[in-house]
Amino acid sequence: MYTTSSIAGIIKANWLQQSSDATIEHILLDSRKLLFPDKTLFFALNGERRNGSLFIRELYDKGVMNFVVEEDFSENAIINFPGANFLQVKNALQALHLLTAYHRKAFNIPVIGITGSNGKTIVKEWLYQLLHDEYTIVRNPKSYNSQIGVPLSVWQINSQHTLGIFEAGISQPDEMQRLEKIIEPTIGIFTNIGQAHSEGFLNIRQKINEKLKLFINTGVLIYCADNPDVNEAITTFATNVRNGDAFTLFSWSKKNQATLQILSVEKNEDQTLVTANYQEAVINCVIPFVDDASIENAINCWCVLLYLKIGHQLIAERMLHLRNVEMRLELKQGMNNCSIINDSYSADINSLTIALDFLSQQQQHSSRTLILSDILQSGKNVKDLYSDIAAILQQKNINRLIGIGPEISKQKEVFKNIPNCFFFSSTNDFKQQFHSLHFYNETILLKGARVFEFEQISHLLEQKVHQTVLEINLNAVTHNLKEYQQQLNPGVKLMAMVKAFSYGSGGFEIANLLQFHKVDYLAVAYADEGVELRKAGITLPIMVMNAEETTFDVLVQYNLEPELFSFNMLSLFQDYLEKSGISYYPVHIKIDTGMHRLGFEQQDMERLAIVLATSSIFKVQSVFSHLAASDSASHDDFTQLQFRSFMQCCDLLKSKIGYSFLCHIANTSAIHRHKEMQLDMVRLGIGLYGVDNNSSMQQRLKNVTTLKTTISQIKKVKAGESVGYSRKGVAVKDSAIATVRIGYADGYPRALSNGVGKMWVGGSLVPVIGNVCMDMTMLDITGLNVEEGDDVVVFGEVLSVNDLSVWADTIPYEILTGISQRVKRVYYEE
Ligand SMILES: *Cc1c(COP(=O)(O)O)cnc(C)c1O
Repeated sequence: MYTTSSIAGIIKANWLQQSSDATIEHILLDSRKLLFPDKTLFFALNGERRNGSLFIRELYDKGVMNFVVEEDFSENAIINFPGANFLQVKNALQALHLLTAYHRKAFNIPVIGITGSNGKTIVKEWLYQLLHDEYTIVRNPKSYNSQIGVPLSVWQINSQHTLGIFEAGISQPDEMQRLEKIIEPTIGIFTNIGQAHSEGFLNIRQKINEKLKLFINTGVLIYCADNPDVNEAITTFATNVRNGDAFTLFSWSKKNQATLQILSVEKNEDQTLVTANYQEAVINCVIPFVDDASIENAINCWCVLLYLKIGHQLIAERMLHLRNVEMRLELKQGMNNCSIINDSYSADINSLTIALDFLSQQQQHSSRTLILSDILQSGKNVKDLYSDIAAILQQKNINRLIGIGPEISKQKEVFKNIPNCFFFSSTNDFKQQFHSLHFYNETILLKGARVFEFEQISHLLEQKVHQTVLEINLNAVTHNLKEYQQQLNPGVKLMAMVKAFSYGSGGFEIANLLQFHKVDYLAVAYADEGVELRKAGITLPIMVMNAEETTFDVLVQYNLEPELFSFNMLSLFQDYLEKSGISYYPVHIKIDTGMHRLGFEQQDMERLAIVLATSSIFKVQSVFSHLAASDSASHDDFTQLQFRSFMQCCDLLKSKIGYSFLCHIANTSAIHRHKEMQLDMVRLGIGLYGVDNNSSMQQRLKNVTTLKTTISQIKKVKAGESVGYSRKGVAVKDSAIATVRIGYADGYPRALSNGVGKMWVGGSLVPVIGNVCMDMTMLDITGLNVEEGDDVVVFGEVLSVNDLSVWADTIPYEILTGISQRVKRVYYEE
């Protein structure tokens, strides 16, 4: 048990203010994730773009009394927080590391430490699947493997646990030795090395050597010796760094002599038989996967089990039952206007908390239901476990809990503060009562341990639709947002463009995420779009770029801020506001500096300034202009011209209006191509959705949208026969043709007919044959091993929307926004 004062000693803090000592059970780094205020210690971490102490007020008001702050926190501020404890340290992140390293030392249990470029999370989860019969295991929730993810993971260790499995990921030198002190692994696994995330490293050798620092104290290191760089680095590490230590190398190899020498890897349709030589005996196991990455991950796990002396028979049985690790949290449309989040990743209290955070980002329905199974292997006593869960559910405003399983059913009592509770002893039991439980206009989170087979419940709840889906990776949106934020000069605000259904990627779902990440402004094209966002619970300020007279009343009703672009519009809105008795209504002034679309001209400025300066009807929030060609070097002179003209307009308005407002002109491309144009705020559009036509910026972005469909039928067509309307596609030889469920009505351009467009099927790009139809398209899949029902990627990671737009002679903006609303959107978090 920790108290504020014991922690002060551990992290060597100065008391800035000492009040009554508290028991500390929870560490908080992100104010949005507060659960148990009275037992929480908040670390006010400072990063490039965040200042943790800004959140202290909010947390204090919610009852948090214990804070770790850095030297930037002024002593004068203390008087505002009577009764709170303030521990001051040089560096709050280092203090967090010290505390969690101390915590780790209190447990003398085996700990597996995993690093490498790929496969860390899978190996960790598979080891959990393979070992949870023998051990009570603590592990990182999802892939919490960073400088803050690892300490939070290690903090969970308690006296019930008999094994820890932690992964560690680094993006720059010097990070691993810190993580090593926190994890202190006794068994090491190096999964592999790839080129990904090389940014912070000089070369591959340095990257490997940095990662190896996780193993400076392990008793064993498990690794594949087939990559020469890895093998050499590890051999050198063993002789130079670990020389003389009790340290074993446990290698596996398909090529050379190794501790586990792989003799053969035989793949059949959906399983792989791996045979190996181990301690002079031939052993084997069957893995229910056939892709190379899974085989590599499974062999790494196999080595651990052998090292732990689990019997061959048992290993073989368990390996056969390895299951896919579903790392995504998906939001789907369900029956009766419900939204469904199905999280089958694992059912433990940490992943439950993560899923509940995701749930609380969803504002579209006010009603929230959680369907939860028994929680297995928590390392806590049952009563405490479910009491904690009940408190969390209450915090997160869950209106209805449906508990499934014998254990949770026994704990009815502790959930008495949840408005509606229902309990069932099994999933089958629930299914039988399904029709008596009404699901209507609410968000439903499904969280079940695998044995409860909650996929049966998600089938009942989900809406059955057209099998073409647009998948939207919400983590990628967040990642892209951060990439652009990193480009911003200090203090620059960010307006996110969510017009046209967030460039086709969804309305409130994206806006919810942006609100969660605290962007400063949203912008939509039309009032209706803004109304939809308000109805879904978006409270951020919203600018409407093309408001018209008929929508003035909804603008005001929903507190939407119009762009004023002409004197005519200005006086119409002024009249409307006057009649309604409204003053100081927030508006945005658009200036045309060369785009020649909407906006006041430079010569209008004097007159405009007088109108605005003398009117108490409007409050000018911002003045802005739009660049016509910020992405193109050949037009940089023109862009500079626009910018100068804009600055002149702003200066004039500033001098006349008498109060300050924001000035902004930069869209996605200008953010990094013209840094000096960031001014007070930038307007981020297409970049958020993963597209930037600057190649170095593009490389830093993650793919957001994947358009997928399926094959409805496969036909054999003889040489000379034709395919589709107008007989445009003629088979030059005997061919196999797949018909897929997407056509121009879905937004697949007809310009991609007759071989112009290609789709990704069964690992290859295949051409469209014949004309694209309204609802279907035919592909030439001759020679490929694919089947009816197989997935087809129209664009995504493997085939970029940019390529598609080039083929169709258009731009990614048009393809993205053209995907019809009948294509179901599926949102997920990894
Ligand atoms: C759409 C739009 C943007 C965003 O442009 P991107 O190129 O997508 O970043 C910015 N400003 C205005 C006025 C827009 O209409």
